[in-house]
Amino acid sequence: MRRFKVKEVLSETAPGTEMVVKGWVRTHRGNRNISFIALNDGSTIANLQIVADAAKFDENLLKKITTGAAISASGTLAESQGKGQRVELQAEEITVYGEADPNSYPLQKKGHSMEFLREIAHLRFRTNTFGAIFRIRHAMAYAIHKYYNDRGFYYLHTPIVTGSDCEGAGEMFRVTTFNPDNIPRNPNGTVNYKMDFFGRETNLTVSGQLEGELGALALGEIYTFGPTFRAENSNTPRHLAEFWMIEPEMAFYDDNDNMDLAEDFLKYLIRYALENCEEDLEFLNNMIDKGLRERLRDVAESEFVRITYTEAIEILTKAGVKWEFPVEWGRDLQAEHERYLVEKHFKKPVILRDYPKDIKAFYMKLNDDGKTVRAMDVLFPQIGEIIGGSQREEIYERLKGRINEMGLQEQDFWWYLETRRFGTAPHSGFGLGFERLMLFITGMSNIRDVIPFPRTPKSAEF
Ligand code: ATP
Ligand code: MN
Repeated sequence: MRRFKVKEVLSETAPGTEMVVKGWVRTHRGNRNISFIALNDGSTIANLQIVADAAKFDENLLKKITTGAAISASGTLAESQGKGQRVELQAEEITVYGEADPNSYPLQKKGHSMEFLREIAHLRFRTNTFGAIFRIRHAMAYAIHKYYNDRGFYYLHTPIVTGSDCEGAGEMFRVTTFNPDNIPRNPNGTVNYKMDFFGRETNLTVSGQLEGELGALALGEIYTFGPTFRAENSNTPRHLAEFWMIEPEMAFYDDNDNMDLAEDFLKYLIRYALENCEEDLEFLNNMIDKGLRERLRDVAESEFVRITYTEAIEILTKAGVKWEFPVEWGRDLQAEHERYLVEKHFKKPVILRDYPKDIKAFYMKLNDDGKTVRAMDVLFPQIGEIIGGSQREEIYERLKGRINEMGLQEQDFWWYLETRRFGTAPHSGFGLGFERLMLFITGMSNIRDVIPFPRTPKSAEF
């Protein structure tokens, strides 16, 4: 007898089919004559009802079939007598692989808090909510690869251990094999990195962009999709110390092409979720956020507003709102400002462009005004910044000037600078935070709940 996945059974298998199913018991109810077992195998949010005639089974075996137990059941699919399901499995044989003691299994009742479930992240996959989230997370990862593959972009693997600091802004995790109790030092007391594993200072990457640019300036269009790390001490619902980022980088794209791609890409991913993750989204819409599906549809169909940073400052100044953080040309925008623009003022996603150069990274292309750069941030309802990107400075002298202006070491970027000496070309790219996307798609409110094992300040369990 073939093993069937529950998804297949519920959606397309005819009554009368003989089968084996395997999974975890969600509930077991009934009476002395008959048992109803709700089985979930992860293939779908829905459970398969298994009906067991008590006369056919050992009483002791039935007792072991409790919430959380792993079982295998074989029998014949039948049209369901009860409400709520098309079919059910009439069990002939049941094997219990692993029991789950009802007195200690933590997922007995429904309605645990997200905080509690985070403490048992090894088991939270077994709840409806996290099952839905991680199936959607998979679907989004797949859709990202499909989107770029269909458009001729190449998936480029940029290094995780890097000698460069992309933003030039610290906040990196050191990579070293030094014994912290006995660090080799130079005669003058400074750390002797020549003795370290790589013979130099190394860190976990904060972004694959700089290396991505090197690929784009030969392969044309590339994208990265990998883990990135930030040692920033931001204890917010939107920041992780380890998160995944998608970073496309395109030769011969200017900032407008870059914005077009970002908008099209985000809408594609939302549509993909609406079309392919229907059941899971329906569950999240009912249980987590009643406005979820409507918001997804709205954003997928809306035309994103595009305004300059300077225009945004004007809107925010005239808003008549008492801000927690001051609004002033030259200062970075905070989440409260971003969300005001998106949720109150425009009621649509907003792309902010042409930021002051002093609050952005050295590699962004300088505008002719000499004050702003061709940066663009995509701001989303509920999330704030979901994408940050820019046209890159391709002019050798200007790029070198910016590196010096920002107090960075030219020799650290010799390879990056060389691409501006040999066959330089206009190019652009952006970074989409995968977990920020997941927050938007699922309606969850804390970024710790859309990645399997979150890493945040003072927390790296599992
Ligand atoms: P923010 O201002 O929200 O901290 P950022 O300006 O530092 O973001 P970028 O350096 O532009 O962000 O990174 C690109 C994208 O990566 C962001 O638009 C966001 O989606 C995501 N991102 C940045 N930092 C984090 C983080 N700590 N955790 C999760 N996602 C992040
Ligand atoms: Mn940040």
